[in-house]
This record gives sequence, C-alpha cells and structure tokens, in this order.
Amino acid sequence: MNLKTISLRKGKTESLKRFHPWVFSGAIGHADAGIAEGDVVRVTDEGGRFLALGHYQVGSIAVRVLSFEERPIDAAFWRERLSEAAGLRRAIGLAGRSDNDTYRLVHGEGDRLPGLVVDVYGPTAVMQAHSVGMHCCREEIADALIDACGGSVRNVFYKSETTLPFKAGLGQENGFLRGGPEGDVATENGLRFHIDWLRGQKTGFFVDQRENRSLLERYAAGRSVLNMFCYTGGFSVYAMRGGARLVHSVDSSSKAIDLTRANVALNFPDDTRHEAFAEDAFRYLDHMTGGYDLIVLDPPAFAKHKDALRNALKGYTRLNAAAISRIEKGGLLFTFSCSQAVSKEQFRLAVFTAAAQTGRHVRILHQLHQPADHPVNIYHPEGEYLKGLVLEVE
Ligand code: SAH
Repeated sequence: MNLKTISLRKGKTESLKRFHPWVFSGAIGHADAGIAEGDVVRVTDEGGRFLALGHYQVGSIAVRVLSFEERPIDAAFWRERLSEAAGLRRAIGLAGRSDNDTYRLVHGEGDRLPGLVVDVYGPTAVMQAHSVGMHCCREEIADALIDACGGSVRNVFYKSETTLPFKAGLGQENGFLRGGPEGDVATENGLRFHIDWLRGQKTGFFVDQRENRSLLERYAAGRSVLNMFCYTGGFSVYAMRGGARLVHSVDSSSKAIDLTRANVALNFPDDTRHEAFAEDAFRYLDHMTGGYDLIVLDPPAFAKHKDALRNALKGYTRLNAAAISRIEKGGLLFTFSCSQAVSKEQFRLAVFTAAAQTGRHVRILHQLHQPADHPVNIYHPEGEYLKGLVLEVE
C-alpha cells in the first residue's frame, strides 16, 4: 500500500482516538503533495503514528474514516463491511422475510461506511454515494453487496446525481451498475409500495418510518386520519389497514399525491375511505373545516445546516401549533423532525412551545426515533437524525 499521508496537529487527535469517524480540515498539520479528492489516505499524529485510513474530501470534513486499523481498502474490505451490514439486518429480523423485503442495508457512519447509503427494495438495491471516495469504489461495493445479500439482491441502481459534491464535477448519471429494472413494487410489513427510484426523493421511499407507521396502525381503528407531508402515502396505507374511518393525505407535490393514490389503490382497491389533496401544509391546516382524530406531521428537514436552526425551530412550532389547535378532543398527533441539525431536546422544546401557544392539555405518549436498520455509531452521535413524539391532546 503506497498511500499518501495526512498528519494532524498536536492536540487534534483526541476525537479520532475516540473513534469519531471525521477529520476536520482545521485539524490537519501537514498533507502530502498531490492528494486528490476521493483518495484513500493514511491519517497519523504529528509524530507519524498511525491513527486511521479514510477517504479524503474537499470541505470542512476533510477525511471520512473507513478503518482504524492499517489494512488494504480492497475488495476483501468491502466484502467484510457489506457482509457485516447484511448480517445485522438479518439479526434484527428485517432481511430474509416473506412479508418484508424493504430495509436499509447501509447507513453511512452507522455501518462504518461513511458517505454510503444503500436501501434494498426486493431484488434491487439503490445505492447513493455522498463522497467522491465512495463514488470511486462503487463497482467493488456493488459486487460486495450482491455477495453479502446471498442471492436476494440482483440489481444495483446507482443514484448519486444529487448527493455527490457538485464541485467535484463528476457529471455522474443515475443508472444500473448491476442487473436492470425488475418490477417496481416493494413490500414493507406485508403492505406494497411502488418505488420510483429514478425520480423519487432520496432512494425512492422513506424506509426510516417503518416502525412509526406500524405504531400508527395500532392507533388508527375508527379514527379520522390526516397524513400531512404524505409523499408515497406510507402512513396512509398503514392507517387504512389499521381500520381508520377515513384517511386524508396532503402533500404540496402533485407527483407525491399521484404516488399516494397509486399505493392506496395497490393495497386497497376501490376503498372509498381515502382522499388525497395537493396543497401546501400551512394553507391546508389554516383552511380546513372539521378536525381529525389523528394527525401525522412528517415534514422535510427544515434545517439542513446549523445556521438555519432558528428559523427551523420556529417552523416546527408554527406547524405543530396549527395541528394541535385543530385536532379533535382526545386526538393523537404523530409529529416528526428529520433534521439532523435539530436535537431531540430542541425539537421537544419547539413542540412544547406550540402546545403552550394553543393552551390545550397535551401529554407525550411515545418518543420515537429511527429504526435499527439506521444504526447510530455511538462515537458519531451526529448520525441520530429522526425524532418524533406521539402526543395526546385533551
Ligand atoms: N411522510 C413521508 C415522507 C415525507 S417527505 C413518508 O412516510 O414517506 C416530505 C414531503 O413533504 C415531500 O413529499 C414534499 O413534497 C412535502 N412537502 C414539502 N413542503 C411542503 C409543504 N409546504 N406543504 C406540503 N407538503 C410539503
């Protein structure tokens, strides 16, 4: 291995020694000449002692660590990491089931693969690289993931057009690295969903809400349900199976509304309990007549960066206050934030403020989070992003 080396400044090695998987550019003391974005580099302390291997990238995070051991980053490395990832999904009972073929196989730092996300939909894996380093390794990763899944995955769709750093100028097209198109329906907990991995957001579906959707199913019987920010209609379909009296789905995107209608029809053809509306959330909440017994608020990330935090918190407060003030007596609110920049405590405070503004009595029944196929590396708490509360409103 003839890797280039980056050495850290004195006093800047602590976080790596605690297995935090990022090196910030400000910690770098010296870098060998000719290091290019995407290269695997050795990271050492100021005395040349080995600390980690990782992908170099341009920006405030300069290295994302692949290994804290000195070893080749080769096909065997990818096979090992991917089979660990697949093993975890079998161990937690998500892979290898007949009623569920939808799960996250790789969750970046949570699987010691920073910059890589892979979601599995039946025989097709959708892979996203968030770093040039992962992009450069995509072919080896595709082979390793097919091996790791033991024949259940045949097709690998690469979807990094929007996730790779624009400035890297890779001009990357989305497309199949292995196999080809093979159906577009995935099964989650026995429910079926059309997945539009080509045009859909992220990898085409929000796998991270699976368990929260199941919880909602348990509460849906006999209730009128509003699924706000419905996207593919995940919560709506679970509410219907749970016996909801009526389900209204709202999203500002008409494509999302079409997807929701298609997914409801796929599971509950000719069921008249469901209606979908393409409308802005605030407009809908401000103008709606009649309340709902159960409201879901699962908006897009309001704060993509720390500097957008203040406005994001105000946004969460305003949105939750609108829902809490209009929900029926005894109603339930499932409210979420997927902004990584917003902490659990900050989100809870924003919702607390919303409740106080409405003057209604509100209790927390459940505190929700991302599921086990989106593991959080304990040394990388930044990996925790999804949080939610189930509130009962008197
Ligand atoms: N709950 C969904 C995921 C929601 S993603 C699931 O379980 O899969 C966020 C959605 O919010 C997107 O579909 C986006 O189109 C929609 N959206 C964004 N801004 C909106 C607004 N102002 N009003 C209504 N919907 C909005």
